Amino acid sequence: MYTELIKELKEQKVNLVAVSKTKSEQKIKEIYDQGQRIFGENRARELEQKAENLPHDIEWHMIGHLQKNKVKYIAGIVSLIHSVDNEKLLNTINKEAEKNNRKISYLLQIKIAEEESKYGLSENDAFGLAKKIVNKKFPNTICKGVMGMATFTEDQEKIRREFKRLKKVFDQLSAEYFQQNHDFDTISMGMSGDYKIAIEEGSTMVRIGSLIFGPREN
Ligand SMILES: *Cc1c(COP(=O)(O)O)cnc(C)c1O
Repeated sequence: MYTELIKELKEQKVNLVAVSKTKSEQKIKEIYDQGQRIFGENRARELEQKAENLPHDIEWHMIGHLQKNKVKYIAGIVSLIHSVDNEKLLNTINKEAEKNNRKISYLLQIKIAEEESKYGLSENDAFGLAKKIVNKKFPNTICKGVMGMATFTEDQEKIRREFKRLKKVFDQLSAEYFQQNHDFDTISMGMSGDYKIAIEEGSTMVRIGSLIFGPREN
């Protein structure tokens, strides 16, 4: 499955985050040996542990909700945090980045699901935060774009609407705040069940777990 997926995504110029949460280090190593270098985890401690034990050229992405007090575990390791959904968290990431003498890249997670209340910034809050970001309030961080999760539903048109909305928010943020900033180029949207729609709607990075590793274990 991995090989076919990689070929499809390459043709579309879309980056793949192989979502390895709950998966064993051995399973991750198998996918690594097929060439995959970007893996996504949703728990700080699990990411920290796996990064220690697995090859050091892996780029670890934090894709799940992140609590401020957990940032320290991943600050020296993580290459992209997808889930910045409030200013206090971004403040903490900025401080931990400084302690580690590095800059940490991240995405603004936007709430796009129409019904389910998932984590994420409202559009208004995203614009408010973007203003502070471009005023250099978080100098040890790099804002690379946006992330969103569609409602878990069979309704394809609903999923498409939600992804369209994320693309629109990205375009508006680009136009209003990040127009001179070439770092702001990432739209992280699409999972195993909806990545094709996400790509049609402008995704540049998909986060895929079960299609690669088999069904989720929890
Ligand atoms: C688990 C998870 C994924 C991957 O989900 P699959 O349906 O297994 O592809 C993607 N994004 C986030 C934020 C996740 O928590």
